Amino acid sequence: MRITVLTLFPEYFDSFKLSPVVRRAVEKGICELDIVDIRTFAPGSFRHLDDSPFGGGPGMVMRCQPVLDALASLKSENTHTVLLSPKGGVFSQKKAHELANRQDILLICGHYEGVDARVENHVDEQLSIGDYVLTGGEVAATVVIDSVVRLLRGALRDTATTEESHENGLLEYPQYTQPADFRGEKVPPVLLSGNDKAIRDWRLTQSLLLTRQNRPDLFEKYPLSEYEKQLLKKADAEKVED
Ligand code: SAM
Repeated sequence: MRITVLTLFPEYFDSFKLSPVVRRAVEKGICELDIVDIRTFAPGSFRHLDDSPFGGGPGMVMRCQPVLDALASLKSENTHTVLLSPKGGVFSQKKAHELANRQDILLICGHYEGVDARVENHVDEQLSIGDYVLTGGEVAATVVIDSVVRLLRGALRDTATTEESHENGLLEYPQYTQPADFRGEKVPPVLLSGNDKAIRDWRLTQSLLLTRQNRPDLFEKYPLSEYEKQLLKKADAEKVED
């Protein structure tokens, strides 16, 4: 897979490129990561990148010419182009899977008051990483890249991504490691029982309870099976008994 990032701040990605998952994916040839400075596509010695907004108002707007010339020069027929923007659709695990299935993606990082709106006509989609405003698209690009790259086959050493939060519409169950008793705080005994079915049921119940409590919006959309309804009923009854 090839990932290209268009940015005014290429140095922002220097340490990100060294993060374990991204570095391993690049070294193993699973992914190619190209960080491109938009300035290269701005003409003249002043590299005219931004200007004041038509109609007035605060701040500066990134000019469309350098961005669109960079796009034209870097994208091929198969490139999926994404403008990172708080006005885009909200990025999700589902979208991460969708992008991980592509061969070639290009992310555009805006800055200042954002990018000239005409750029929107030349991208495949706009993505937001959440309902808040960042100073620049670089943070958003690292979020998108990290979540996509860890889904590529061979990028993670031994971690399975299939049971993680958001993979099946639920949050992940609680995880514990040694010691089994830490200053009186004990690991749930079922996890030490060696009973695979009991462990599976406990984990599923915990996922359901956690999602219902922390993310009622997700829980409402989750299609509960009869078996899951029974598990929840049992957990609720046990809580009342406590
Ligand atoms: N004036 C814009 C608005 O109100 O919609 C905000 C521009 S923001 C200060 C500058 C850049 O940061 C944007 O062009 C975008 O690339 C990036 N950005 C900010 N918030 C973002 C978010 N939630 N998701 C993705 N990118 C974001």
